[in-house]
Amino acid sequence: MLKTIYLANPRGFCAGVKYAISFVETLHETHKDQQIYVRKEIVHNKRVVSDMQNRGIQFINELNEAPDGSIVVFSAHGVSPEVVEYAKSHDMKIGDATCPLVTRVHRKAKKIKESHQIIYIGHRGHDEAIGTMGEADMHLVETEDDVLELKNKLDSTKPISYLMQTTLSVSDTKKIVQKIKEVFPNVEEPEKDDICYATTERQEAVATMLDHIDAMMVIGSENSSNSMRLLELAQKEKKLSFRVASHEDLDFAYFETNKIETLGITAGASSPQVLVDEIIEKLKSYFPNAVVTQFPDSREDTMKFKLPGTLLK
Ligand code: SF4
Repeated sequence: MLKTIYLANPRGFCAGVKYAISFVETLHETHKDQQIYVRKEIVHNKRVVSDMQNRGIQFINELNEAPDGSIVVFSAHGVSPEVVEYAKSHDMKIGDATCPLVTRVHRKAKKIKESHQIIYIGHRGHDEAIGTMGEADMHLVETEDDVLELKNKLDSTKPISYLMQTTLSVSDTKKIVQKIKEVFPNVEEPEKDDICYATTERQEAVATMLDHIDAMMVIGSENSSNSMRLLELAQKEKKLSFRVASHEDLDFAYFETNKIETLGITAGASSPQVLVDEIIEKLKSYFPNAVVTQFPDSREDTMKFKLPGTLLK
């Protein structure tokens, strides 16, 4: 019988997600008479997207689904220069809601693309990886084995550096970076890794809780990279850990069968608090004696990114 529910902190929305959502909402508010087209999911969460759709904001997969001259918004994950070019050549007004921490990686890529061979640590096919890798020729690695395969592809007498997706597993990425250094001793280490503060802090919060719980519940979408990394991290130590997208995924029999008494809850950086609230309400209706509490010594995410003065370019 479930007795205690510990809430991880920080969890849920990060500064970049709040920035992207507020970007679209402000644009919608100030351009009521015009249709706004958001390219791809603004953040990887179905609830966030459907809330916006209900308010009349339209989501498209590619820009050719929007009429020439319309207002288009790029999602928090960023886009490749090719997409920007398309928008410009079709007279579209661009709203760039890319998280500033993703934009920073794009800037780094542009800065070194002429002088360095670039290794990109990331997930093939993820929107952020596609956008960043569009800035320059890059060699994608997802595993240590991928690094070994690069041995004969890169010229080790010429400068090599690496960049990474912002939402990776901190510990897995350390191993990949170590492998890069072994295989390419001349690699130039960037001053700072690209895994963002939000990813790092949410993973730290989960790691701290693992000795005190029977299982971790991660609230987040399957295509949310940072949510999936939280799940993997939890499952390394607590095999019973699982992911839900919403309260509809709750399986009470699972709790009973596995005798889960102490549950940790975290939420990926794109998961709104309303999903956490709904899940707690449903858990409480099934386990009325369960105590819900913040995990001791946890902290809030207070980072904030200010919207630009001009939203459209
Ligand atoms: S997870 Fe990090 S990089 Fe992604 S939107 Fe949030 S702050 Fe930005």
